[in-house]
Amino acid sequence: MTQSQTLQSAQSQGRTFLNEVESKQVLRDAGIDTTQATLATSRDQAVEQARAIGFPVVLKVISPDVVHKSDMGGVKLGLKDEAETAAAYDDIVASINANQPGANIEGVSVQGMARPGTEVIIGMSKDSQFGPVLMFGLGGIMVEILKDVAFRIVPLTRRDARSMIREIKGYPVLEGYRGQEPADLEKLEDTLLKLSEFVQQHDEIKEIDLNPIFAYKDGLTAVDARIILEEQAG
Ligand code: ADP
Ligand code: MG
Repeated sequence: MTQSQTLQSAQSQGRTFLNEVESKQVLRDAGIDTTQATLATSRDQAVEQARAIGFPVVLKVISPDVVHKSDMGGVKLGLKDEAETAAAYDDIVASINANQPGANIEGVSVQGMARPGTEVIIGMSKDSQFGPVLMFGLGGIMVEILKDVAFRIVPLTRRDARSMIREIKGYPVLEGYRGQEPADLEKLEDTLLKLSEFVQQHDEIKEIDLNPIFAYKDGLTAVDARIILEEQAG
């Protein structure tokens, strides 16, 4: 399915969001780098997909009822072989059933383990006055506790993308702090611009959350993605 078809069919089914696998596919089609994730609906399928991807892999719960996957025991990282993958599948199902009884578990996403990078977050939300707005910040506590984020109204110019990255207090971290790998600033700008363009083309999207993105010296990859849809009119 094309980007628009995935979005339209989800919306016509009355769904209000795309799962991780669908969100990443749609974003990749829009030229935004993410880890490639596939949906496995059984333990055997998860193992088979893991083997095809190559170890180590990551398994994450796919459920319309689970928003914060790791809080619910729904994320298993660094699975080294088939046995670990099979066990992780069962662990995820058991954790979700224990932590959120009655949650509808569609399966798990299977993806390769991404190399660690500088964690950044990009989001889109809609302001009642300004319409779609993009948010940029560093990952983890910088965003959650210190609210060290920058906002720009869609559509962004190259200048907007440049300045929003540079205005956060944590900017020195992106330049490479104490021997840490610097982040590919041009690629971050490109990602903001591509997302801005994508958002402009899709009025039916209400919210986007790329949290986190791992930024590297060369390139970046979004390891988690969520797209929330507007409720279908009529
Ligand atoms: P959630 O935000 O719903 O808890 P995430 O998909 O963000 O779930 O996963 C939780 C954390 O696991 C991420 O913040 C990231 O640090 C790590 N992670 C997720 N996917 C990968 C991946 N493919 N490779 C490496 N680390 C990952
Ligand atoms: Mg996340």
